[in-house]
Amino acid sequence: MAVLCKRPAQYPELRKRHGECNSPPLIIPPMNDSISSLTTRIQAFVDARDWRQFHNPKDLAVAIAAEAGELMQHFVWQQDGQIDERVRRNRDEIASEIADVGILLFEFADNLGFNLGDVMAAKMARNEERYPVAKSKGNNLKYSEL
Ligand SMILES: [Mg+2]
Repeated sequence: MAVLCKRPAQYPELRKRHGECNSPPLIIPPMNDSISSLTTRIQAFVDARDWRQFHNPKDLAVAIAAEAGELMQHFVWQQDGQIDERVRRNRDEIASEIADVGILLFEFADNLGFNLGDVMAAKMARNEERYPVAKSKGNNLKYSEL
């Protein structure tokens, strides 16, 4: 078992960006970064509750948008100078909303027969083509405007 919030040595970037976390350590099993192991766990959770009957593509898409809305709610009307403090004060709640989006996304992709890692890797390859470093570094232009 790993202790996530102690920012173990294998997460030096997280330690640097976020420092130590204030919440109690979260004990997690290894391989939590595996899309397939998380998807298996999510589908087992859904099946144990017989919820697959409710999780059609339309409702999963709606639920993802609703959870994304809950995530956005943390930031609505926050001005540039307030956002960092908002994140610091609401870190656990924001993480929970990010997790909600991710859990539903993993289930959605799996239900439609997509290997999420494969489609994400394919999209990243496309993004790398659309946003070559030489043209994109340091600017936020859309690929069609480069
Ligand atoms: Mg939520």
